[in-house]
Amino acid sequence: MQLVFATNNLNKIKEVQAIMPQHIKLLSLKDIACNEDIPETQATIEGNAIQKAEYLKKHYGYDCFADDTGLEVHALNGEPGVYSARYAGPQRNAEDNTNKLLTELKDKPNRNAQFKTVIALHINGELHTFTGICKGEITKERHGEGGFGYDPIFKAEASDKTFAEISLEEKNNIGHRGKAVTQLIAFLNK
Ligand code: IMP
Repeated sequence: MQLVFATNNLNKIKEVQAIMPQHIKLLSLKDIACNEDIPETQATIEGNAIQKAEYLKKHYGYDCFADDTGLEVHALNGEPGVYSARYAGPQRNAEDNTNKLLTELKDKPNRNAQFKTVIALHINGELHTFTGICKGEITKERHGEGGFGYDPIFKAEASDKTFAEISLEEKNNIGHRGKAVTQLIAFLNK
């Protein structure tokens, strides 16, 4: 089976490919000659995932899935949430975003946070969604060189290291995207 993963984020493709069974061949946007930025203008993480999957199906005709992820911080009333990519501005820069978050949390004793991923699957004319949540906390400083985005400042409850300090396999086992992809795979195997 061939399925398009509607993202340009090579880190996400690497994570998802690592747990996809071999009989499901993932195609990237590059593989289908899609070079445009797919719109994500909805007010929720779920809305954006659905928007991306529907856009790709409508304009390119492929069965596909799209993921949208947000980091929800308790002391900031769930922010940056759906705005996680643009938290420090339209430049969508991970370093700027993590700096802003560390500054916002400087005097806050409660550093609890969760990553939420919603995957929207468009297949055989139907839409299905799968949600993965990983609870944890924002560290006081960056730790580790791996991963991407907010990984250097997020420590999952199930670990004593940040996502940037653990392997891809470990992140997939305990992480938000791994949990959503596991449900996606179970659905595809049915
Ligand atoms: P999006 O799902 O690509 O829109 O991601 C929203 C924001 O969250 C971006 O700034 C990403 O870098 C960040 N992000 C998404 N997934 C992860 C992750 O697994 N770890 C750390 N940051 C992430």
